[in-house]
Amino acid sequence: MPATPAWPQRSLPRLFIRSPLSEGARIELDGGQANYLRNVIRLREGAELLVFDGKSGEWLARVAEIAKKRMTLIIEEHMREPETIPDVWLAFAPLKRAQTDWLVEKATELGAERLLPVITQRTVSERVKLERLEAIAIEAAEQCGRTRLPEISEPMRLNQLLRHREASRALYFADEGGGEWAPDAFTPGPSVILVGPEGGFTHEERAAIRSAPNSVPISLGPRILRAETAALAALAAYMAVAGDWRTY
Ligand code: SAM
Repeated sequence: MPATPAWPQRSLPRLFIRSPLSEGARIELDGGQANYLRNVIRLREGAELLVFDGKSGEWLARVAEIAKKRMTLIIEEHMREPETIPDVWLAFAPLKRAQTDWLVEKATELGAERLLPVITQRTVSERVKLERLEAIAIEAAEQCGRTRLPEISEPMRLNQLLRHREASRALYFADEGGGEWAPDAFTPGPSVILVGPEGGFTHEERAAIRSAPNSVPISLGPRILRAETAALAALAAYMAVAGDWRTY
């Protein structure tokens, strides 16, 4: 039976650490992380946990010291190399807060390499709090066993995305007006999946996206999906046929 790297899980807590990790390093945790480990999951001196820095894979660490508002970890052993993330980006029009949060959490679990908020003519919310989205992605990565975080880009206008994307990066455009059946359309290689806002793309936008080089309109079935459902359905279909679901 295929296994995933995170399953069966060791029942150790996982924590993202901003500073670079190496064997023997002493890591002083900030107040928030120390409080979480001490008071929420109640780690005591000597307890083990898994840590990752987004670059060097995963490490076994041990709690060396607990003070009132700090905690010191010692990095003991390299457990896993960083995984290879498929080079697929998810470009989405920012939605209401709860839906955007959900989308970021799930896209991180599914393995998107980069998340790009894209402002379209019918985008309802142009305010994107990158720090908040990054915090959500970190929590999702801690939970799902990722050793690399998705990159979260500054919001950009749709025409910027169309102008600046290298033509070699396939643009899979979720078009509720119809397109190629998504699982047949996806092929491995640099890709971006583009999903519209709740109100959909305007006629002009659809025409501009369809005429961009290497643009492939895709259909996600006969029903109109909510924007966040469409984004996750497209990403899951991509991972199944062209991403990393087959490699484990
Ligand atoms: N207001 C639009 C309408 O009634 O036609 C629906 C927009 S839909 C809620 C939001 C986005 O999800 C769309 O712009 C598209 O990118 C994507 N989407 C939803 N259902 C889809 C489907 N069946 N096939 C392809 N894309 C879909």
